[in-house]
Amino acid sequence: MKVFTEKQPLKAHLSSKKIENKSIGFVPTMGALHKGHLSLIEEAKKKNDLVVVSIFVNPTQFDKEEDLVNYPKTLDKDKKMLESIDCDVLFYPSVNEIYNNNISSDSFDFDGLEFKMEGKFRDGHFNGVGTIVKTLFEIVNPDVAYFGQKDFQQLQIIKKMVKKHNLKLKIKGCPIYREDDGLAMSSRNVRLSSSLREAAPFIYKTLKKARKKFKTKSAEKVVSWVEKEFKEHSLLKLEYFTIAEEKTLETIITKESDKKYRAFIAVFAGDIRLIDNIKLKQS
Ligand code: AMP
Repeated sequence: MKVFTEKQPLKAHLSSKKIENKSIGFVPTMGALHKGHLSLIEEAKKKNDLVVVSIFVNPTQFDKEEDLVNYPKTLDKDKKMLESIDCDVLFYPSVNEIYNNNISSDSFDFDGLEFKMEGKFRDGHFNGVGTIVKTLFEIVNPDVAYFGQKDFQQLQIIKKMVKKHNLKLKIKGCPIYREDDGLAMSSRNVRLSSSLREAAPFIYKTLKKARKKFKTKSAEKVVSWVEKEFKEHSLLKLEYFTIAEEKTLETIITKESDKKYRAFIAVFAGDIRLIDNIKLKQS
């Protein structure tokens, strides 16, 4: 695996591959890699000649300094994982290499997607995401970039950015990879104490029950039920549970048979914020 920390040598390497007509799959990450990340990389490997993974903990998408400081960093282990699955290129830039001493976000208009759910609770988050992802796309110039449905709102926002800015690449959304007990894999899971780790699968269990209820009950009833379940939970604190239309992320008012819905949840386990979502069916 080739490792680059600077953009110019990476660009030169990738241009030479493009000249050879090689297709480039790109998986941007913040590191502390787990099997969820690897599932994206495996998907990229299947469909491309060359796979580039980036590891960059992007400061502009964190609204809380302590969350940025506490974000797990496991570079040596990450490199070994990437080597074990034959990743071709790792891009691991410094903050300065990306931001040139000006750590700030550009302002994006994602047609309102940015103000829903995560956008309500994480100030400036999607401007930070847009800034880093667009910058990385400019450096790597991939044919296809892979994102997890775990961050479904982010996936829709990136698709919107590609469309609005007329970027020449495809975005592929990949399924959520879970632990055996259903907890969605996340780099943040390693920070859970044993009691919180034991409690956390309650999130997906509740989502699955909500999915079943949604077939026979109104969205309002399902939302109230989930809120009640979490009120009664001693360790997990619900930040939001929303049922929204997949494309616009508009909160459902009444069910419309031609629309696709998903349930979205954010929960605090101690000071660790976990998100998850599930696709819903109407019958
Ligand atoms: P992160 O390192 O958390 O920024 O994630 C990098 C990419 O991996 C994003 O596109 C995430 O949506 C994706 N990802 C993270 N966790 C999972 C998971 N459990 N299953 C599938 N994709 C994931």
